[in-house]
Amino acid sequence: MTSHLMNTYKRWPVEFESGRGCKLFDTGGKEYLDLIGGLAVMSLGHSHPKVVAAIADQAQRLVHVSNLYSTRLQEDLASRLASISSGKLSFFCNSGAEAIECALKLVRRWSGPDRRRVIAAAGAFHGRTLGALTVTGQPSKQEPFRPLLPGVTHIPYDDAGALEDALDDDVAAVLLEPIQGEAGVVVPSDDYLPIARKLCDESGSLLILDEIQTGVGRTGRWFASDHTGVTPDVVCLAKALAGGLPIGVCLADPRVAGAFRPGDHASTFGGGAVQMAAALAVLDAIEEEGLVQRAAEAGTRLIRGLNAIFGPRAEVRGKGFLVAAELDADLARDVTSAALEKGVLVNDATPRVVRLAPPLVITDEEIDHGLAVLGEVWREVSAA
Ligand SMILES: *Cc1c(COP(=O)(O)O)cnc(C)c1O
Repeated sequence: MTSHLMNTYKRWPVEFESGRGCKLFDTGGKEYLDLIGGLAVMSLGHSHPKVVAAIADQAQRLVHVSNLYSTRLQEDLASRLASISSGKLSFFCNSGAEAIECALKLVRRWSGPDRRRVIAAAGAFHGRTLGALTVTGQPSKQEPFRPLLPGVTHIPYDDAGALEDALDDDVAAVLLEPIQGEAGVVVPSDDYLPIARKLCDESGSLLILDEIQTGVGRTGRWFASDHTGVTPDVVCLAKALAGGLPIGVCLADPRVAGAFRPGDHASTFGGGAVQMAAALAVLDAIEEEGLVQRAAEAGTRLIRGLNAIFGPRAEVRGKGFLVAAELDADLARDVTSAALEKGVLVNDATPRVVRLAPPLVITDEEIDHGLAVLGEVWREVSAA
């Protein structure tokens, strides 16, 4: 059949029809264990009753009125987010890339015309719109679309010396992922973010953290930066926040957020009632079910299991339920494909890196089942 979709995705030949918790069912009725959770989005699993009810209930009441009018639900969500982010103010949008665009505009507004440069990290992923693509540190994704934004410098990740050398009084902001997700779950040294924070303070630059993948409890704290004690000036969230509905939020310290005036930034769909209701339900459920703590504790079960499977053939790393195995050969696609065949969903983040970001509601039994299948898969793939 001819497809009328633009050819932008390389998709696996499977179509899912329904899901429940960590399980997905394809159109043939075959069951799968979802260890990637829609790319770190479905933290409460599929069809979580609380999120489903919040969406259905709000959809029956009111879906959209635009940002011409006040919305109680936006205030409620912003207040919840402020309570976990040392009092930051929210701008709601619809995706990770949009949250990054908002952060880039906000720091320009704040810093003025003499401080325009932004420093980002090699290997970073921040999204596909032109601004977000510019700060993304992956030349293969950027080359076909040049020219990009001026004034962006990339430095090696987890290299405090390189950051110190690059910082100057023309730098508006330093933008970092606390763990690089798309690059293959690259976890920096414990002192990297604290040093980055100190260097930014010394040079008068802002620190923006992209917690689009790592935030909302995934790594065992609300924000991955909470592991380090670092408070950023600006932080972006998206993926897991609204239980699978499109959302993004740029959170900023009031001192910085105050640079925006009415008319400076806007989004037609941003802060929509259904997304807000879903996000509030997600935060409630994460709290009620103790899922941040669960990610912190059970993530080690996953890491231990993966180490037992791959042994010296892989470096296993991650925090909480954001985990990866970097293989010693380009076998990540073979592993992903064979696992799919056997009913387990993982992701080949790079040719060598198999990434896992399961729903935070995953049980010990499900983890053990996933590991048993991945063990079989690895025996096959490594013997071939
Ligand atoms: C997914 C992701 C983005 C982009 O989010 P979109 O919603 O796809 O625009 C940006 N930064 C990080 C760290 C991500 O993981």
